[in-house]
Amino acid sequence: MSAPAGTESPELADFRASADVWCNDNFERRSVDINEFKRRFSISSISEKDERAQVARAQAGQKLVFEAGFAGLAVPTQYGGQGLTAQHQRIFAQVASRYVIDTGIFSVSIGMVLPTLLAHGTEEQKLRLIPPMLRGDDIWCQLFSEPGAGSDLAGLTTKAELDGETWCINGQKVWNSFAHVANWGILLARTDWDVPKHRGISVFMVEMNSDGVEVRPLRQITGIAHFNETFLTDVNVPTNNLLGELNGGWGVTQTTLMAERSLIGGGMGLGFRDYVALAKEYERADDPNIRQELARAYTRFEILRWLGERSRTAMRAGKMMGAESSVTKLAISEHVAKSGDLALAIEGAAGMLAGDDASDFGFWQQQFLSQWAIRIGGGTEQVQRNVLGERVLGLPSEARPDKTEPFRLVPKN
Ligand SMILES: Cc1cc2nc3c(=O)[nH]c(=O)nc-3n(C[C@H](O)[C@H](O)[C@H](O)COP(=O)(O)OP(=O)(O)OC[C@H]3O[C@@H](n4cnc5c(N)ncnc54)[C@H](O)[C@@H]3O)c2cc1C
Repeated sequence: MSAPAGTESPELADFRASADVWCNDNFERRSVDINEFKRRFSISSISEKDERAQVARAQAGQKLVFEAGFAGLAVPTQYGGQGLTAQHQRIFAQVASRYVIDTGIFSVSIGMVLPTLLAHGTEEQKLRLIPPMLRGDDIWCQLFSEPGAGSDLAGLTTKAELDGETWCINGQKVWNSFAHVANWGILLARTDWDVPKHRGISVFMVEMNSDGVEVRPLRQITGIAHFNETFLTDVNVPTNNLLGELNGGWGVTQTTLMAERSLIGGGMGLGFRDYVALAKEYERADDPNIRQELARAYTRFEILRWLGERSRTAMRAGKMMGAESSVTKLAISEHVAKSGDLALAIEGAAGMLAGDDASDFGFWQQQFLSQWAIRIGGGTEQVQRNVLGERVLGLPSEARPDKTEPFRLVPKN
């Protein structure tokens, strides 16, 4: 995937070439065989042993990337990075995507916690925590959502109380991706109950092997158990693991959530041609209803391509996408929902088959079932619309009395 001619400086083009040579020398090239791709994404279960082996392989790969000087390309050198630019980072990600380098397990660490630490961490925290993150030694999870606080995240009730030299944390978190393999978690807790809900939250960095942390995997509709519920009972966290200001956690959280939305806006595996190929395989390519839906799918692919181009242009200009990243998240949500329906409509009655009985090892069924992960994770479609209405279009916000009352007095779920 090379950049269009004339859009990349000679220095960046050299960087792209050297990254490609290095990846080629150190990693297997990803197969371009569509069947291999489909088999990889049709998996509906994985044993604990295989998952551990997968994590170990990902960590070994990240260590190689770090040691060769390709990790944290835009991170300052004093924190283990290379002090280059976001463009170098983007180019390396493009090149690496053509090789078997598994970075998914680091999406919370490097994709979300790293930018949060860079923006809000103390010097001591950055020096201590960023290098092992970049080296792949540390895997982080996000401990934000709770049974009664998802979309209304600021309504969280996990509490942290100062007990001498440490914070004592009690509460329950849920839907925590990778918590069962992570050794660190970034956690939100309430530290002041007598102020409105957004003003009494703090962010803590918690070692997952601390006494009182219990992680229980949850199985998803796809059969995979990649997320968990996490129980915290009298968990002690040292004061130097408070991230950002005490009670200033809501501002810190915005950095993490913004990074999360842009990650979800990132990669798409399938192209328009894959749907056309499926329609041909099922001899539905002449069906006027299917053709109409294929035309709609083509439009969605084009819109996503232009949205991607918009964010790349913003990145090249050194601008962060703001609430506009909600547009991309929303467009992707709509796309995965409608494309899931389209694939199963093409298959017709055969769409009811599963696993090896279904076409392409059940790949299309897994695509259909995984749509909810994308539509809900990182903020639901309805919540993205609220963000767009209020922060981009400037519409009046909903009346929310719980935003101004002390949290202690707000009725809880
Ligand atoms: C695959 C996946 C991975 C995830 N990973 C993590 C993770 O690693 N860490 C973590 O902390 N969390 C994680 N989450 C949780 C995720 O952030 C929440 O599921 C999400 O914020 C929605 O919260 P909820 O599930 O409590 O739904 P609720 O907030 O209870 O929402 C239920 C329904 O009500 C609607 N709704 C709620 N409020 C409004 C409103 N004001 N206006 C209009 N409609 C509204 C919602 O859109 C939704 O349809 C993950 C979720 C998924 C699906």
